[in-house]
Amino acid sequence: AAVEAAAGAWGDADRALLGGKGAGLADMSRAGLPVPPGFTISTEACRAYLHGQRDGRLDPALWQETVEHLHALEAREGRRLGDPRDPLLVSVRSGAAISMPGMMDTVLNLGLHDAAAEGLAEATGDARFALDSYRRFLQMFANVVLGMPHGDFERILEDEARRAGRAGDGELGPDELRRVIAAYKAHVRARLGRDFPQNPLDQLRMAVVAVFQSWQNDRAIVYRRLNRIPDDLGTAVTVQRMVFGNRGPASGTGVLFTRDPATGAPGMVGEYLPRAQGEDVVAGLRTPQPIATLRQAQPTVYADLEQVCARLEAHYGDVQDIEFTVEERRLFLLQTRTAKRTARAAVRIAHDLCAEGKIDRAAAVGRVDPVQLAQLLHPTFTGDLPPAVATGLAASPGAAVGEVCFDPDQAEALVRSGHRVVLLRTETAPDDIHGIAAAQGVLTARGGMTCHAAIVTRGMGKPCIVGCEALRIDEAAGLARIGEHEVRAGEVLSLDGATGAVYLGSVAVGEPELGAEFETLLGWADAIRRMGVRANADTPQDARHARALGAEGIGLVRTEHMFMAPERLPVVHRMVLAETDAERAAALADLLPMQEEDFHGIFQAMDGLPVTIRLLDPPLHEFLPKIEVLLARRATATGPELAEVEELLRKTRALTEVNPMLGHRGSRLAVTWPAIYEMQCRAIIRAAARRAAEGGDARPEIMFPLIGMASEMAAMKALYQRVAAEEAARSGFVLQCPIGATIEVPRGCLAAGAVAEHAEFFSYGTNDLTQTTFGFSRDDAEAKFLHAYLQQGLLGSNPFETLDREGVGELIAIGNRRGRAARPTLKIGVCGEQGGDPASIAMFQELGLDYVSCSPPRVPVARLAAAQAALRAG
Ligand code: PEP
Ligand code: MG
Repeated sequence: AAVEAAAGAWGDADRALLGGKGAGLADMSRAGLPVPPGFTISTEACRAYLHGQRDGRLDPALWQETVEHLHALEAREGRRLGDPRDPLLVSVRSGAAISMPGMMDTVLNLGLHDAAAEGLAEATGDARFALDSYRRFLQMFANVVLGMPHGDFERILEDEARRAGRAGDGELGPDELRRVIAAYKAHVRARLGRDFPQNPLDQLRMAVVAVFQSWQNDRAIVYRRLNRIPDDLGTAVTVQRMVFGNRGPASGTGVLFTRDPATGAPGMVGEYLPRAQGEDVVAGLRTPQPIATLRQAQPTVYADLEQVCARLEAHYGDVQDIEFTVEERRLFLLQTRTAKRTARAAVRIAHDLCAEGKIDRAAAVGRVDPVQLAQLLHPTFTGDLPPAVATGLAASPGAAVGEVCFDPDQAEALVRSGHRVVLLRTETAPDDIHGIAAAQGVLTARGGMTCHAAIVTRGMGKPCIVGCEALRIDEAAGLARIGEHEVRAGEVLSLDGATGAVYLGSVAVGEPELGAEFETLLGWADAIRRMGVRANADTPQDARHARALGAEGIGLVRTEHMFMAPERLPVVHRMVLAETDAERAAALADLLPMQEEDFHGIFQAMDGLPVTIRLLDPPLHEFLPKIEVLLARRATATGPELAEVEELLRKTRALTEVNPMLGHRGSRLAVTWPAIYEMQCRAIIRAAARRAAEGGDARPEIMFPLIGMASEMAAMKALYQRVAAEEAARSGFVLQCPIGATIEVPRGCLAAGAVAEHAEFFSYGTNDLTQTTFGFSRDDAEAKFLHAYLQQGLLGSNPFETLDREGVGELIAIGNRRGRAARPTLKIGVCGEQGGDPASIAMFQELGLDYVSCSPPRVPVARLAAAQAALRAG
């Protein structure tokens, strides 16, 4: 067999210097695997070339070294490059440190010229093979090195095949190939005004330069931008003895994965093309066969391949994607690299490799990309996608297909009668919640990653695209324009919340499949991570969902969402618009039992686990009647109704703020109207008392929003204690309940020491903290100017998505330091949207947070990301 299991020790070659391909080949040849001999020119040499003149000349010292290595190869092989009697031929192949499949260039069969082709024919006794190799070399060199279009040569080849009545290029005989070669050479001369280079050393020098230069071709540049690969790495160039898959019927070429990259199932998956060279597989001129066909055709080669796969996996501890050639029944490996894979396969492979003892649990946990894992948790579009008609911000992942609907009430009604709808809005508001709940997905023209629609849909695990600037809705006309398309209510639209793409019509959806491996892997992650993972949940249903996904409690209950149920809204309006304490007290008395019920349900769902309840934090405008609605009513009202509408208008206008986000919200509300928070504290205590009476274990933690001053925190704590004392006197029930602050204005971080004197925990509200630190409106920034900051590179990422470490993160570091100095037992978490973002989770670990809290569907992602953060922190 070509492979000897006991062969030499593995290397661990320098990828940065040799590129992935060069390093893999060096590793494999040291291990004694069958690799054609050769040498690699480093990425350093490429960088030097690209920084220099780039005039097609190689540095003389580099060229001299290259020639010396070539001579060593010639000595070893006992043949000279391009020798007319029996030529050594080489491949000249690109390979960057980070895999960029197919983006850069390669030349095969180099060293051939007119005399050498005839010499090769004689030496091998196979004229067809020799001429076919020359034909391939002319075509590839002309394309890659001389810059001529590939298609010209394909046409010449096809014409000849047609004239000869042959099916494919594998079938052309020597005379036909000679005609093709002559036509190729004539074409080069006609186009370039010079002959095809016949000197093998000239060919080699030109090919090395061309491979260097291919680092800068358009597709490589685009690929690097898409994959965030630095532009200054350069490519290595590997020069290797040719092995010939086109040698005869017992030769061929193939690519394979050591396991199935789509499902992760064990066993080789790949393709083989007999009597061919590598580029034939890519070119798609002939259809390759499944790798399993080799088992019958060439059982020894197949067995060798299986052995190679096992050794490669054992060495790299990961699934490999390999290229190989069979030359007259002998196997040669041309490349090995870590295989790209689907999220589903990534989970299965990490799990299985660990179960097989090839990697440990920490390595397995490190193998799955948490961002990719998120795809696995949501439905995705399958099959071929039509072109997108627009894209917006990918606010909440998943695939939604439904009839277009512009109105939340109508959406609810349509869904009740069996339709599936997608809700299109300019932007959403809290009172759209029922429509959002009913819809398959949501598309808005405005808003950013922390806007209402984004937060609510993320919580529900529902697809959502926001800030889709191409969307213009004319609700009255019952239509929307999306770019140049017109879409009417009832027409079908498909939304991809993972990419932000909008498609006309219905696209096929595949449901997520989570195997047992997924649970096991997350269990390993839980044992590794140091930060807790909680969920943001406002309803018992969301709480149960979060718990099922592994949440260790609730880090944020946004109580304002409870005030938006249609039957409550009139009471809420009465409470907000009240002008006397008595009026407000009456409205609150109606709300108290409803709130008690809300909290009771959540405590039940989260029995035994902490539930952080944030008291009411409305930008108040969200709770006021809409001025436009009132004006419309006034236009038709008469008599007492008119008087009532006038009164409502007056009160609403009086409460309307110029800048509600910086206005009468958060704990400020309780400084002016303490009765609202008193009612909420009472409801929490009573709900906990009921749970205790039922034998349950409610663990509320009360959080006061938008705390910027120690005095505010002290006042809020006193408010709570007053209510707790009243409740204890009334019922005898005493609640042990930590009291804390949402830190979401910079002053709260700076005054954290004094705030912590009155607070047992902090939770960073990084949505507001980002807004207030940058002074970027969270509702407007992303649609209006943030994209320009991102495009021009003024910001590396969206700070509403990934924590801004430099500014917001620094405030958190200060807050932690000062807070913990004042109160060493201070518990610190985060409840902004960044809490579910893997890159931010790594920063929260570094900043020393105790837990993160995120929307329920992101809980598994956060568990994995927190484990990886702990592994990186060491
Ligand atoms: C925050 O500001 O980060 C937060 C969690 O609160 P909200 O998004 O409700 O303002
Ligand atoms: Mg906030």
